[in-house]
Amino acid sequence: DDILLEVEHLKTYFYLGKDKVAKAVDDVSFAIKRGETVALVGESGSGKSATSLSIMGLVPSPGKIVSGSIKLNGKELTRLSEKEMNNVRGRDIAMIFQEPMTSLDPLFPIGDQIAESLLRHKKLKKKEAKELAIELLKKVGFVRAEKMMKEYPHQLSGGMRQRVMIAIAMACNPQLLIADEPTTALDVTIQAQILDLMMDVKEEFDSAILLITHDLGVVAETADRVLVMYGGQIVEEGTVEEIFQQPKHPYTKGLLKSMPSLEMEVERLDAIPGSVPPSHQFPVGCRFADRCKFAMEICQKENPALFQTNGGRKVRCHLYESEEGEHE
Ligand code: SF4
Ligand code: MG
Repeated sequence: DDILLEVEHLKTYFYLGKDKVAKAVDDVSFAIKRGETVALVGESGSGKSATSLSIMGLVPSPGKIVSGSIKLNGKELTRLSEKEMNNVRGRDIAMIFQEPMTSLDPLFPIGDQIAESLLRHKKLKKKEAKELAIELLKKVGFVRAEKMMKEYPHQLSGGMRQRVMIAIAMACNPQLLIADEPTTALDVTIQAQILDLMMDVKEEFDSAILLITHDLGVVAETADRVLVMYGGQIVEEGTVEEIFQQPKHPYTKGLLKSMPSLEMEVERLDAIPGSVPPSHQFPVGCRFADRCKFAMEICQKENPALFQTNGGRKVRCHLYESEEGEHE
């Protein structure tokens, strides 16, 4: 079986007060195969980060997983104790965030932090952990890795810190790497280097990646498959070729249009007007209806199901319901 991660009917809600429930993740299902790079795309507020935090078992209060299942190698994660989940994190699943400064401890040198991560998950002697840490720093491109071991986080640039985070993430050879906007805070040339590095490291360690981003340029360069998220739900799923060459959902089409072309990377060309509806007030109908130029009467009344066309594409839109296929 080559399925590594299987998420089924996941609902992660935030209880914000009396009668105010934010349905950040609202019945999301998808799978990731071993070694695959899957991109989860959408604007901020669409539920991407809540999805990744759910997989990591790190949903902050007042949020919680209300229902659904998250299986890694067939093992249910949502029922693990905090201690068991701690072992899964770092050993089986590792995460890289947008701003590495918040995940690095400012008080300790880089070397100690990598070694600590190694010691927590592997049976190593201190000296072995240190040697392995140096090796990892070399792998993420630090030529003078011994010197880097002694540096403190504030002494490094944003790009260097992100390299360190990748070294820490890969320290235990995780099967799944979750990268949430890993390059958003970096400037464009450094972004490209970090992405290249992530892909090299992924090859070397044979990990799968769940890449969370709003940047379709990044997706085009790295992903095998794409999940488009909107209003807490997946609205379209396809291979990277399908999504870029033949997008079906009006939201996906809008996202692609607002992507700056390579020659004209100056400004957004045709951004989608409006914004994602707040997740405590989804409309009864299609959650994109307010912003959709194809909206029909039925779109105001009924939220479409994620519809599988006979070409194997999945799309949540009433426009495609007359095509032959199955409803999920
Ligand atoms: Fe637009 Fe209707 Fe499709 Fe929603 S269901 S994306 S409103 S056409
Ligand atoms: Mg986010």
